[in-house]
Amino acid sequence: MRKLKYYIETFGCQMNDHDSLAIASMLEDAGYAKAPRPAEADLILVNTCTIRDKADQKAYSQIGRWRLLKKEKPEVIIGVGGCMAQSDGRGVLSRVPFVDFVFGTQNMHNILQMADEVRQKRLRPVWTAMPGDPAAMEALYSHAKADGIKAFITVMQGCDNYCSYCIVPYVRGRELSRPSAEIVAEARKLAEGGVREVTLLGQNVNSYGQKGGDGADFAELIRKVGEVEGILRIRFTTSHPKDLTDRLIDIFASEPKAMPHIHLPVQSGSDAILRAMNRKYDRAHYLGLIAKLRAARPDIAITTDFIVGFPGESDADFEETLSLMREVVFDNCFSFKFSPRRGTKASSMEGVVAEKVKEERLARLQDLQLGHTTAKSLAEIGQKRVVLVEGSSKAGGGQLSGRTPQNRIVNFRGDAALLGREVEVKITAAWPNSLAGEL
Ligand code: SF4
Repeated sequence: MRKLKYYIETFGCQMNDHDSLAIASMLEDAGYAKAPRPAEADLILVNTCTIRDKADQKAYSQIGRWRLLKKEKPEVIIGVGGCMAQSDGRGVLSRVPFVDFVFGTQNMHNILQMADEVRQKRLRPVWTAMPGDPAAMEALYSHAKADGIKAFITVMQGCDNYCSYCIVPYVRGRELSRPSAEIVAEARKLAEGGVREVTLLGQNVNSYGQKGGDGADFAELIRKVGEVEGILRIRFTTSHPKDLTDRLIDIFASEPKAMPHIHLPVQSGSDAILRAMNRKYDRAHYLGLIAKLRAARPDIAITTDFIVGFPGESDADFEETLSLMREVVFDNCFSFKFSPRRGTKASSMEGVVAEKVKEERLARLQDLQLGHTTAKSLAEIGQKRVVLVEGSSKAGGGQLSGRTPQNRIVNFRGDAALLGREVEVKITAAWPNSLAGEL
């Protein structure tokens, strides 16, 4: 009998990428095979994002492109899910009449059941309840499989922080942690399949264990994953400065498998803006954390996120952000212009910053960061770094590629047999976003 085929299109963040991998794995466990293109699929899924307006538009325009396909092949089932689907719910069906079902962020484990309802009962189900059910998380993530040297492990879902600009708590629900025993079991399974580096993933991993879980906090979870044979490196994302405890900072000094890199979003250097963002820390607290992190692990790489042009951000507020950047000297950052998300507090705040001003501020910020990133990269020249070999380099020329403990990409010549091993590489050349070296 011919195997049913699936095709998944994913928008947005690492969380979505990882969820799509888990969905794919779940479908394969149920007997589906991966279709190389939508036209060959029996089930087409779109895992959407809604973090910015553009993300919504991109998802709808992608779905729109399948109108003809659905007309020519009406038996193909199209399901739309993820954050935008959670937010728009039944509205997805009215906006795109040929979509068959809508699955919310906490209903991904039900996709097969929903596809059956479409196929057998001719229904158009919309499942967007967010019951915060730990069993639902396990039903999805227990399908995780090793696929390469590195893997993500989702350790929690949702977020309780309600930063005033962010839609995540509304579309992913309240915070809920997975039991550490399940996470360690998943790490063990991945290690047996050849994974050597895991990234523990969640909207706010620092508060892991506060709701749900099995009593372990995040520091303890990292230690437990560190005991898994075969796992050489542990990373995690994303951290919230208000929940970064001394216990967790100490992990960088005491747990050899915890890699010296932290992504610690600051968003702004101005206390007034941090208050308006409801970030629940101030500039002094953030700078205190940076000092503690560097004391615990002097070679730690620190990356961050910035939002410029938040409502009410004055020139003076923005200068505070630049001054914080000069004080910290981040290894790199993601930076965005503020864009209002419907339903969030910030979307109705006064003091809207003109688009042109946002653009100018973003350009100045990115310029400053490029200088810092370049200087940090150039300082790598001459250093010997332990690199985990991940595969062939995108630069081609038969080169290998891997990452330093600080998460910098290094390309170098070497035998493909080194894949999955840690090797020492001397850095010989540097660019802002990659390094070259010699074994
Ligand atoms: S911590 Fe803030 S920015 Fe991050 S997901 Fe939660 S609400 Fe959104």
